[in-house]
Amino acid sequence: MGSQRGLCIAHMYPELLNLYGDSGNVLVMRKRLTWRGLGCEVREFHVGDRPRLSGVDIVLIGGGSDREQRIVCDCLLKARRELVSFVQDGGVLLAVCGGYQLLGHSYLMGDEKVPGLSLVDLYTDRGSPRLVGNIVVQSRICAQPIVGFENHGGRTHLGAGVEPLGSVLFGYGNDGETGEEGCLYRNVVGTYVHGPLLPKNPGVADYLLGKALERRYADGALTPLDDGAELAANRRALEVGGAHRFG
Ligand code: GLN
Repeated sequence: MGSQRGLCIAHMYPELLNLYGDSGNVLVMRKRLTWRGLGCEVREFHVGDRPRLSGVDIVLIGGGSDREQRIVCDCLLKARRELVSFVQDGGVLLAVCGGYQLLGHSYLMGDEKVPGLSLVDLYTDRGSPRLVGNIVVQSRICAQPIVGFENHGGRTHLGAGVEPLGSVLFGYGNDGETGEEGCLYRNVVGTYVHGPLLPKNPGVADYLLGKALERRYADGALTPLDDGAELAANRRALEVGGAHRFG
């Protein structure tokens, strides 16, 4: 990136955690930075690498099947100290579905209670049936409702002091019962929303970029972009969700 203003994104285990195109979240963040004349470096970390987060502004952990999640869980636990200091220092972290579940104390995989990163006070057990379908969430972090797709057997339970990302308008969210979806903790966003999340939810993308710019440059101001196409896609997904709900 040299002397150009910009951000560095760490993409964790893209070969394993790319369910429903979660890697697209990195492309969106990169595009929204370059459209604004800002630089973007992407560092991929693969199984067997030791993730080094110095100089990193945003970490992305996508979702995966239980098999893939089991593999990355061991890798992530080895990087736990690095991730804890990153989060405590205000680093931005986006974790989707399987990645979101790994942020907590534990994840129940079959009969095995797999330890998580304990980065956020939450845990995940299982339920039947799987929670599958379109989802719409209202969140304080952006003006438009967050739209996307969820597919999980896990039921996530937030600790008393943990704020949800938002309220479910349509779909299931954390456990299909509380009406809560995802988590917000420091600059961590955890969510069950795949799709990928960011193309149809530009407000969420800018929330993450703004937080990261604020941390690095003490200025999180972002020039507005023409989000006509993104917002049209958001509205369409909302109509589809609403039609299923009310129609
Ligand atoms: N394996 C996890 C579950 O089923 C997460 C799946 C996902 O990332 N969509 O709950």
